[in-house]
Amino acid sequence: MATIIDGKAFAAKVRGQVAEHVARLKAQGIVPGLAVVLVGEDPASNVYVTNKHKMTLEVGMASFEHRLDLDTPEADLLALIDRLNADPAVHGILVQLPLPAHMDAAKVINALDPAKDVDGFHILNVGLLGTGQKAMVPCTPLGCLMMLRDHHGSLSGLNAVVLGRSNIVGKPMAQLLLGDSCTVTIAHSRTKDLAEVCRRADILVAAVGRAEMVPADWIKPGATVIDVGINRVERDGKNRLVGDVDFAGASQVAGAITPVPGGVGPMTIACLLANTVTACCRANGLAEPEGLTP
Ligand code: NAP
Repeated sequence: MATIIDGKAFAAKVRGQVAEHVARLKAQGIVPGLAVVLVGEDPASNVYVTNKHKMTLEVGMASFEHRLDLDTPEADLLALIDRLNADPAVHGILVQLPLPAHMDAAKVINALDPAKDVDGFHILNVGLLGTGQKAMVPCTPLGCLMMLRDHHGSLSGLNAVVLGRSNIVGKPMAQLLLGDSCTVTIAHSRTKDLAEVCRRADILVAAVGRAEMVPADWIKPGATVIDVGINRVERDGKNRLVGDVDFAGASQVAGAITPVPGGVGPMTIACLLANTVTACCRANGLAEPEGLTP
């Protein structure tokens, strides 16, 4: 049976490290602040934003919530971003995605001050990560990298397959693994012989958004499987969350695996807090917290 990588416990540890760092900053009169902007009432986004607010306060940081109506003009959102960019109490800004259809998400994200872009989606941060320079790194892949490093120590020379090529997960995940000297393959919906590609992976990161798409026989015995997927399915008349990997089967073959829920999910918010404290340190010319950046 595979070792279960307990993302919930790991995330609690990361939040503890963040809280310690926040306390040290506060002793110097600096309070890290995170602003979260939500446009509209999407129920899932609403839950995320509420959780982020709660956990930001729990680690001792300042939390600024901005909830805008669904029909808010794009210009008003851009004006709010300008104000947050200029506000010295705000070190991190997160605009909750997806944005309503009348807004241009790329334009909005690229209006953020890259130094405050704690989601790491600004074009400058994407470029910095891609060229191996100090960037703000997207939270979900950062959380996956932390768990992989914790489990393996060095990732150097391992074959990593990233299933999915989104800007939010797949591409930055591949960059981070490359940065740690893995041999990286990015697979997607047009990949030929996907099963064979996956079977070569010492590390398999699944980020496709298709319930239990990866069966046990796509997994190399002993591989480490990171399941990013969050899929809602109905089982026995109940709503359940499942990943992109058939957990029951895969855990018989893999060496280590993250569960869903309780794997990657909790690490994402923990890494958002970590990124905010990192941004705050950079803004103040202070040393960055160790272990919270790639
Ligand atoms: P996305 O933007 O929809 O991208 C999905 C990727 O999977 C695409 O690159 C797509 O390929 C590929 N794909 C889809 N069907 C495929 C198939 N049958 N075979 C091979 N590849 C296939 O999704 P995302 O934003 O990256 O999210 C992926 C999953 O992670 C979702 O379940 C999401 O809810 C979850 N997620 C979780 C967290 C967390 O905190 N745990 C954070 C973010 C996302 P093409 O590019 O060729 O279409």
